[in-house]
Amino acid sequence: CGIVGYVGAKQAQDVVIEGLRRLEYRGYDSAGVALAHEGSVVWDKRAGKLANLEGAIATQPLPEATTGIGHTRWATHGAPNDANAHPHLGQQGRLAVVHNGIIENFAALRTELEKAGHALKSETDTEIAAHLLELEVEAGHDLTTAMQRVCQRLEGAFTLVALDGADPSRVVAARRNSPLVVGLGEGENFLGSDVAAFISHTREALELGQDQIVTITADGVEVIGFDGTPAQGQQYHVDWDLTA
Ligand code: GLU
Repeated sequence: CGIVGYVGAKQAQDVVIEGLRRLEYRGYDSAGVALAHEGSVVWDKRAGKLANLEGAIATQPLPEATTGIGHTRWATHGAPNDANAHPHLGQQGRLAVVHNGIIENFAALRTELEKAGHALKSETDTEIAAHLLELEVEAGHDLTTAMQRVCQRLEGAFTLVALDGADPSRVVAARRNSPLVVGLGEGENFLGSDVAAFISHTREALELGQDQIVTITADGVEVIGFDGTPAQGQQYHVDWDLTA
């Protein structure tokens, strides 16, 4: 439902939680955050209001990190509980994914992964994407190439945002028939399911086209098609008033 991503110099969990707060108006049943920390992913996720997640993090703080992703879920596959909340992790816990939309062919991919010995922990259509992406990065592909390879296997409408704990320099996202916007900052960049996710930080936005993948780093934004060819988003200035 709501997606936020961040790479920069600020505390990623603060940026992500604030972004999720601004996306609350869309409605949701669970919330979660994942950060890149010392080679792996640290995360928390909770059913219910964002306040539940914030309360959990206040009790058991996540370490400081400057790369992160977050999600508010509107369940389509699997009950709204802690296990089905996003982020979802790969088998090794190196890779985290948040997802909006529906991966139509997840059942076949899930069977394939289970036959290969993967233990899936949720009922979502999302978790297979984390496992598939992690297999690609473990095979030596960078996260951008991994995303490209995995997207070629997915059917449906989705926005996917992924974090590789072993590579905190980037967050990678893909879009097919589901919204995704980049927020362009200075020494930091953002991702959002809509501009509300980053409006308090920047008003320079880049809207992606269909079947595109974007890689954000602190200093750059690179867009390619699912086939790997260089592409460009549509840049615009957000001029609506910030009231909250
Ligand atoms: N299909 C996914 C799920 O049920 C994502 C739902 C959403 O867009 O929030 O977990």
